[in-house]
Amino acid sequence: MIYIHVPFCKSFCTYCGFYSELCRPGGRDAEFYADAVCREAERRRNDILSTAGVNTLYIGGGTPSVLPSALLEKMVRALPFPPGGYDEFTVEVNPDDLTPAYAEFLLSLGVNRLSMGVQSFNDDILRWMNRRHSVAGAVRAFRTARSAGFANISLDLIFGLPLRADGSVILADAAWEDTIDGLLNLEPEHISCYQLSVEKGSALETMIEKGSLREAPQELCRAQYDLLCSRLAAAGYQHYEVSNFALPGHKAVHNSAYWSGAPYVGLGPGAHSYDGARHRTWNSETMPGYTSEGETLTDKDLSEERIMLSLRTASGIPLGELRCLAAPDALEAALAKGLLVTTTEADSTELRVRIPEPHFFISDSIISSLVI
Ligand code: SF4
Repeated sequence: MIYIHVPFCKSFCTYCGFYSELCRPGGRDAEFYADAVCREAERRRNDILSTAGVNTLYIGGGTPSVLPSALLEKMVRALPFPPGGYDEFTVEVNPDDLTPAYAEFLLSLGVNRLSMGVQSFNDDILRWMNRRHSVAGAVRAFRTARSAGFANISLDLIFGLPLRADGSVILADAAWEDTIDGLLNLEPEHISCYQLSVEKGSALETMIEKGSLREAPQELCRAQYDLLCSRLAAAGYQHYEVSNFALPGHKAVHNSAYWSGAPYVGLGPGAHSYDGARHRTWNSETMPGYTSEGETLTDKDLSEERIMLSLRTASGIPLGELRCLAAPDALEAALAKGLLVTTTEADSTELRVRIPEPHFFISDSIISSLVI
């Protein structure tokens, strides 16, 4: 289970707080970066081999699709596995970059899943977000990917956009409905949908601090989330994690393994790694060279993380395990109020606990009440 972080973007989105650098045309930063990732892959060969139980590669960013194809290929070939042999090999792409030739290149490299940041099906909102692409561009990119042969495409959306200073909404109900319609018309296999949050260092943070925007009230966000959940359920999507929906057979293998606590290796500046036990490391957000540091997780860290990651999923956590990890009074109270329910999975008699979908929106507060 390997993650490669590509820290380049052509422009910065209004809401973004991820680590990324501006792609300078003609600069050699991308070459230095790719060489550094190849050296790290070589140095950490044994770590990488030890994660092979989950046979996935995910290249995210930033915007991996701004990297010259030859450099992307060089990094993939520097890994100790054959490029075409991954159960799931995902690359994040910006719709603006997805030409027929680029789609063909990705397929030839063994990529079998695309994750495309569409974010909205409304051009005014895309401009506000400072996204590079238009709605028509996103639709064209999706169709290009399909025609090329991609049978597993995930689209990202954002809801809960802020209010203007006068209280008017940026994301009106009609625009949200149009966005959901636009999404469903494309029939992607997978959908990730995140509530906008104000990230440190983002342009949005400055706008909020200056008072030209304010955060959307939770009731508005909840209404948008509920509408999304009901429309996607009616279209046959399984809501398998708070922010993720999939048609049957298309849950993200890589992300699902993160949530189950599997070990992974992250390569590149800003990438994190976990040994599946107690050790987590991360690379510095510096270019072209980056360094690594780490921490040993305490019992408290591990139990908090296990509660948080498992209860965000529809399959939850075994009741016996949660009884050992969570605050007993809070657990009983959440069960009594129906904020948690017990369930069994089709292939097992083990009693599990999960947050029912109508309470997914408040999963953070349910989870924090359980943490000791
Ligand atoms: S949201 Fe993605 S594309 Fe936009 S600036 Fe951040 S990393 Fe780059």
